[in-house]
Amino acid sequence: MSMKWRLTDRSKMLLKLELAITVPALALMAFSVWNLKHIQRDKNIEAAIQRDFQYVLKIADNKSWRKATELVEPARKEFPNIHESEAKIREGLTRILEQHPEFDYAIVYDKNCHVMVSVIQSNGEHDEDFWERSQEAINSISGWLPIEAGSMADHVRMMAERGEHEPMFYSEWVTQRNRHIYLNGAYFVPPGAGDEAALGIVSFNLDYLRNTFFPAVIKDVLNSKSNALRNEANPPAIMLHFSRDSEPWVASANWDGGKPEVERSSMEAFHDTVWAIKYTGTTVADIGAKFLRNNYLILAALTMLMIGGIFLTYRNISREMNLARLKSDFVANVSHELRTPLALIRLYAETLELGRLNSKEKYQEYFRIIREESERLSSLINNILDFSRIEAGRKEYEFKETDLSELVHSTLDTYRFQIEQNGFTFEENIAKDIPPVNVDREAIARSLLNLVNNALKYSKDNKYIGVSLYRVNGTVKIEVKDHGIGIPAAEQDKIFDKFYRCGDPLVHNVKGSGLGLSLVRHIVRAHGGDVKVESAPDKGSKFTIALPLDQMPRAGMATA
Ligand code: ADP
Repeated sequence: MSMKWRLTDRSKMLLKLELAITVPALALMAFSVWNLKHIQRDKNIEAAIQRDFQYVLKIADNKSWRKATELVEPARKEFPNIHESEAKIREGLTRILEQHPEFDYAIVYDKNCHVMVSVIQSNGEHDEDFWERSQEAINSISGWLPIEAGSMADHVRMMAERGEHEPMFYSEWVTQRNRHIYLNGAYFVPPGAGDEAALGIVSFNLDYLRNTFFPAVIKDVLNSKSNALRNEANPPAIMLHFSRDSEPWVASANWDGGKPEVERSSMEAFHDTVWAIKYTGTTVADIGAKFLRNNYLILAALTMLMIGGIFLTYRNISREMNLARLKSDFVANVSHELRTPLALIRLYAETLELGRLNSKEKYQEYFRIIREESERLSSLINNILDFSRIEAGRKEYEFKETDLSELVHSTLDTYRFQIEQNGFTFEENIAKDIPPVNVDREAIARSLLNLVNNALKYSKDNKYIGVSLYRVNGTVKIEVKDHGIGIPAAEQDKIFDKFYRCGDPLVHNVKGSGLGLSLVRHIVRAHGGDVKVESAPDKGSKFTIALPLDQMPRAGMATA
């Protein structure tokens, strides 16, 4: 029945453990895996990075527009009045170009008065290529101005009515010696124009845009506080290319080629150009994959830790439960152990009291039984008292220089008769060269008695007990040998644990408390020695107490 209870107890515990820890933990793990799968499927990480990239590009576009506006504004304010003489206008434009080397040329156009004055940046005078290109551009502009100027001016005025007084921007491609050249400029309504179809135009110098203007914008964007990706160890790389050509026109220093992750056409000032962004040396897909991989790894590690934790908890609880079971067995065993000798003592004492025994031998035998049973009782009680002292950490040893030969011999002497009475062959081998040793007499005698008592208890047909005392190197050994039932190898370690009893007590049917060997080990260790067992089932056992000669605690008291 106790077996059955044990099983249900254990499965109950397992069930609780599983419900309380394993199920929530597993649910958490499963949820995390599901979550990661979800992230993986929906490419959430990639999408988040791309959103950030979009945002950065939007800022880049906006910054380039604002910067271009800031460049044009002072020029616009100083633009000559269209009603002035052509010479005055030319003079005004020349002054503006002198003050603003970032412009290639400036134009004043008035459709009604048929005025079109254009001035080319004079510091480019000796650069034929530049001169030719600028001329080409002005020609192209003068081609479409008569058609477009009206609506362009209206557009500017409309914006001004809305409160936006900024210049507008145009861009176009001109062909110079079979090369397509990007041109970009700003237009606005010049002073004195009123409602007329009149425009002022300045055009940006390409080299200035490429070498100064855009690098500054890019630097600004990458360092900007609003850049969501600013703090990354690997900052993004940005470049600008023309819509018709995917090669970078301007790029940040860390641009390493390859396909951009996100592109955005410029909407504000530099039409026909495209902003592009990516990470250097890696792709967003890689980052997403790496994030997932790391998370899976962490999850796996956590799962391992959790399994380890559950295993440890399970083992601890198991051990506690075992101990609890052993304790309850112990109580049953000890009650029995106490009751049997008491019952015998009472029985024989009552028989003696009646005085009806007819032979002296019978009296003798009954007295002996009573004495032996009371000895058993006191040794059991001594064991229990010792044990409780040890458990409470109050066991004290009184070490004294002792003649071990004499101690072993006299201890066995009180037992010899009983051993032989029980039909045992008894051998005692005590070496002559044993030096005096510092021990607690009573404790060592009790250890020896426990071992001899076990040999008596756990022998069946082959009744033999051998006790030897000898010296090996620096130790003195006390050996107790029997030809009894032996101990399976798997249990040889455990028999020294408190309460532990081999196998099922119902099987070998020998009563005991499970305390004897744990006491022996405790006592021997308190002496700086150790106790070992060699045993084989059905062959017998040999217990050896080894006490070191040199490291013996000095004579006196010691608390264990
Ligand atoms: P007890 O004898 O009171 O059960 P012990 O601590 O002395 O407790 O021994 C623990 C267990 O070791 C015993 O229950 C027994 O199964 C086993 N054992 C001890 N000594 C011997 C022996 N000499 N031969 C076989 N088994 C032994």
